[in-house]
Amino acid sequence: MSSMKPRPKPDVFNKGFWEAANQRQLTVQRCDDCAHSHYPGTPVCPGCLSSKQSWVPVSGRGTLLSWVRFHRAYWDGFREEVPYNVILVGLEEGPLMISNLLGAEPEDIRIGDAVEVAFETVDDTLTLPKFRPAGAVA
Ligand SMILES: [Zn+2]
Repeated sequence: MSSMKPRPKPDVFNKGFWEAANQRQLTVQRCDDCAHSHYPGTPVCPGCLSSKQSWVPVSGRGTLLSWVRFHRAYWDGFREEVPYNVILVGLEEGPLMISNLLGAEPEDIRIGDAVEVAFETVDDTLTLPKFRPAGAVA
């Protein structure tokens, strides 16, 4: 089991996100009372503390804000993939998301360049939202 990659553990606060991802839809949590959009999911709205929140689809478009390259495998399951990139994306709708860049290396594009979501199917029950340079061929 130690060679397996860690998997998301769906709970009441993130279940909607992962269910949508499995349908290849990127979502963020939006407050039903004040419309504050945020990610990851939280028990109460960071804007007004309401507990009435919903997962709503977003465009999947964003900009590359930052990136790093992991040279160390913190989990054995990633050992064969190091070094790999980890990126910070600012979604068009505001929330930030940490992911990986597909189809290019981060140093080949510029901070501020447009990226778009690209779903990576792991298996029947898990699809990971990742990103690629906007306009790239799948
Ligand atoms: Zn709110």
